[in-house]
Amino acid sequence: MHGAGTGVTYHPEYLKVVWETLAREAGVKVLLNAFVQAAVRTGDRVERLVLATTAGLHEVTARVFVDASGDANLCHFAGFPYELAGDLEPAQTLTTTFKLVNVDIARRKQINKEAFHALMAHAAESGEYRLPRKEGSDHITPVAHMTATIMTRLDSYRRTEEGRVINATDPQLLSDSEQEGRRQALEYIRFLRDKVPGYETSQLATFGTTIGVRETRRVYGEYRINREETLTARQFDDQIGLCGAPIEDHHGGADTRWSYLPEGKCVGIPYRTLIPKGAENLFVAGRCFSATHDAHASIRSMGQCMVMGQAAGTAAALCASRNLAPQALPISELRDRLRSHGAVLEVPS
Ligand SMILES: Cc1cc2nc3c(=O)[nH]c(=O)nc-3n(C[C@H](O)[C@H](O)[C@H](O)COP(=O)(O)OP(=O)(O)OC[C@H]3O[C@@H](n4cnc5c(N)ncnc54)[C@H](O)[C@@H]3O)c2cc1C
Repeated sequence: MHGAGTGVTYHPEYLKVVWETLAREAGVKVLLNAFVQAAVRTGDRVERLVLATTAGLHEVTARVFVDASGDANLCHFAGFPYELAGDLEPAQTLTTTFKLVNVDIARRKQINKEAFHALMAHAAESGEYRLPRKEGSDHITPVAHMTATIMTRLDSYRRTEEGRVINATDPQLLSDSEQEGRRQALEYIRFLRDKVPGYETSQLATFGTTIGVRETRRVYGEYRINREETLTARQFDDQIGLCGAPIEDHHGGADTRWSYLPEGKCVGIPYRTLIPKGAENLFVAGRCFSATHDAHASIRSMGQCMVMGQAAGTAAALCASRNLAPQALPISELRDRLRSHGAVLEVPS
């Protein structure tokens, strides 16, 4: 297996409408452009959230909450413990993605990945182009003559003189990185247009909506999955999904480090990694789940974040309807419910 495995090419703008439609049809009340700014907690129970909206501050209550903010913002505001990426191990880098139009895809396909990387490395080493990453990738999209890239690379954290870690949860670091990321993207575009067949007359269409952040806060949950468990494809009694993606570490160097699971195997994602330790009515889903740096670098993939979202949402509904804490929910009931909705919880033998 190479890279992150099989890819699914989709149009993100249409996908937004699909998800909005599904949510509306399911009776979900959606509030966009509203940001959690504070949480009120009694003991290990979250009582309510304070949202910043264009109409001012707004409070919401719920029987059960799911923190799918990527940055574990709800857990942070509510005071549940987490590991700050960059503290115990190096944090993964940041990437400003961009899309180019007017690409001659047939010409681009005339050179393979190795030749593409060789051009990038040569350009970087020539000193003519400032390209920190020499193994960036470009991908076809559903839009004709458009490609999407994952090329730029920016450090995502530093340590202060007092030893405190500043990472991409810091507004100033994030703001500086957004601007530097766009400058760096323009440098990669200059390289592509100058040196890569098919890109000669390409043009910038868009930068990513925001800079891409890989890891910031990983909560300490009822269970913390680690590197060895991931690479040996460990199975768990309470798993709510599977992950076959390799550990993909976008570290601070010029390349990316890949470590693969055994061929055809997947690691289980334990339900307990979605429960902040001791929380009475709170789940996490997505890249803020409970994992070490390495395990996270595999299981944070998009498909697995969706699996976690489905599991956390289903568990939250079951807990809310029965007034149960997440730890008290019978796992067989949750797994049966997920299976009945089509979730795949074990690798078919
Ligand atoms: C450059 C890059 C390339 C990648 N490439 C791939 C790939 O090819 N394949 C793959 O599988 N994975 C890839 N990944 C990983 C994957 O995309 C992410 O790990 C995953 O999408 C994270 O999803 P998430 O929902 O947990 O977090 P996010 O996508 O970060 O979503 C969090 C959401 O919460 C919102 N939010 C944050 N704070 C608040 C708040 N206080 N109040 C309200 N809302 C809030 C944010 O606005 C955002 O919409 C890539 C990641 C990056 C950065």
